[in-house]
Amino acid sequence: RASRELKPERTVVKAGRLEMGGVAIGVIAGPCSVESESQIVGLAIKLAKLGATGLRGGAFKPRTSPYSFQGHKEDGLKMLAAARDASGLAIVTEVMAPDQVPMVAEYADVLQIGARNMQNYNLLQAVGDSGKPAMLKRGMSATMDEFLLAAEYILDRGNPHVMLCERGIRTFEDHTRFTLPLASVPFLKEKSHLPVVVDPSHGTGKARLVPPMALAAIAAGADGLMVEVHDDPERAVSDGSQTITPALFADLMANARRIAQAV
Ligand code: PEP
Ligand code: MN
Repeated sequence: RASRELKPERTVVKAGRLEMGGVAIGVIAGPCSVESESQIVGLAIKLAKLGATGLRGGAFKPRTSPYSFQGHKEDGLKMLAAARDASGLAIVTEVMAPDQVPMVAEYADVLQIGARNMQNYNLLQAVGDSGKPAMLKRGMSATMDEFLLAAEYILDRGNPHVMLCERGIRTFEDHTRFTLPLASVPFLKEKSHLPVVVDPSHGTGKARLVPPMALAAIAAGADGLMVEVHDDPERAVSDGSQTITPALFADLMANARRIAQAV
């Protein structure tokens, strides 16, 4: 069902103001974690003015250590809903387990399936059953075939609203947190009709590498971006080192528009 051989026309996923796979580049921006209502509301208003169409922010956080901040959970979802009301942005947030799907679906516009859960088949099916737009992140050790077959689990439940997100993979290279393989963008777009989003924040782990790799993703044909933005990245509760400021995001948006026009 993800194959272009069976469906040559491209899928456009729409969720409120967010559109992925259409003519314009869709941009999902926001902090790694939702920290407080004033943080997320204030940032959402700024990001909407700068041209983002979606707001990201984790309320359920898949942290490497069980002792790290795990997210504000339902309170975080309520803060995201307040940010949508204030900014008009579509809310993109992660759901980590099948039994969380109804609650997250009540507040979010797009259900994010994280890299660590790409092959959690029960979760994929639950997101499929919800009928909600979904953003599936590539597992950090998943091949392209495994990635597309994971998307197939959602599509097979009758939910066609699926976006694929390249977020980087594990390699021997350790100068970046992950390795961001941008060839997957034209490859996925050749194989599949689903929109392709690139996450240069997790893909590099380094804030100064985010703007150039975001632009490279657009040049490679990506339908959209997911970028971590925080007012004070050094104080962010998670992923600060890969997070850019609103000022850098503004520059990135201006350059992204120029590249998108040229592609
Ligand atoms: C995230 O988007 O904050 C996240 C946890 O991403 P990933 O699942 O790609 O690591
Ligand atoms: Mn993050």
